[in-house]
Amino acid sequence: MNSIIQRVKDYKCNKIYIKRDDLLPFSFGGNKVRKAFLFFDDLKNKGCDCVVTYGSGSSNHCRVIANMAILNRIPCYIVSPIEDRQTTANSKLIDIFGAMVINCTVKDVHETIDKVLNDLRMNQNKNPYFIEGGGHGNIGTQAYVNCFNEIIQYQLEHLVQFDYIFLVSGTGSTQAGLICGALLNNSNVKIIGISNARQNPYGKTVIEKSVCDYLKSINYINYKKININFIDDYILEGYESYNKEIVETISDVLKYDGIPMDTTYVGKGYWGMRKYITENTIKNKNILFVHTGGTPLFFDKIGEYK
Ligand SMILES: *Cc1c(COP(=O)(O)O)cnc(C)c1O
Repeated sequence: MNSIIQRVKDYKCNKIYIKRDDLLPFSFGGNKVRKAFLFFDDLKNKGCDCVVTYGSGSSNHCRVIANMAILNRIPCYIVSPIEDRQTTANSKLIDIFGAMVINCTVKDVHETIDKVLNDLRMNQNKNPYFIEGGGHGNIGTQAYVNCFNEIIQYQLEHLVQFDYIFLVSGTGSTQAGLICGALLNNSNVKIIGISNARQNPYGKTVIEKSVCDYLKSINYINYKKININFIDDYILEGYESYNKEIVETISDVLKYDGIPMDTTYVGKGYWGMRKYITENTIKNKNILFVHTGGTPLFFDKIGEYK
């Protein structure tokens, strides 16, 4: 798994680079692909014969897991909240991949997952593999430690040093992975997660826990208190909310860099990064933005960009 890093147009006297994880070569790419490959290695090692996860109809994670499952010829069960049942490019793809979608209310999600797992084990004699929503957990974190190692490799090969790494943060496991990667490589690059929905202190606490869990799992003892930059200034009204400026940012990057971004995650994060650069008068720096994917979401809103 490796994705390219490309230089795009400068912003406020900063050199901007984008790591194109949206181009990872499976199922429309994105950070969920990096995570899914590691989850399926683990699934095979554990001899599991079906997969259970959860997420909404617009979930990139569910689309990628459903595609991985059919590729590996194992059944895929997706628990999905009815509150979010809209037809999107991802929900259509999930159908095409033949995943079984089990709808329930948001408050019944945990109970429903337990029921599905129990039924598979007790009544169908199956050995299910469970994946947290969004691919959260140590394996998801590992995927972005690996990504950080690729960034280090790029710096060595191209004799460039990034001062900042920006990304959009949802559950925070992508950011946790990059933070752990930086720690393990003794890098002091500033990692700035632009939240698309979660607020502090919760958002930051979840990342802290992911970092601790991961470092414990690899017996890393050198653990010092690390600084987590989880910025909740640009969430607007929360998940899936966006404004005119975000749409303008997406159109600008689409036209003048040729890169698609969606309104829920990456376009919102890129807009947030630009605002952060402006508000903190960051200048003359090398800045890497990690493009975490969401290409099907880009097409859901194709009528909006001007
Ligand atoms: C899931 C997702 C994210 C958020 O990743 P986390 O690891 O949950 O923070 C960001 N961008 C896209 C396109 C995603 O699908």
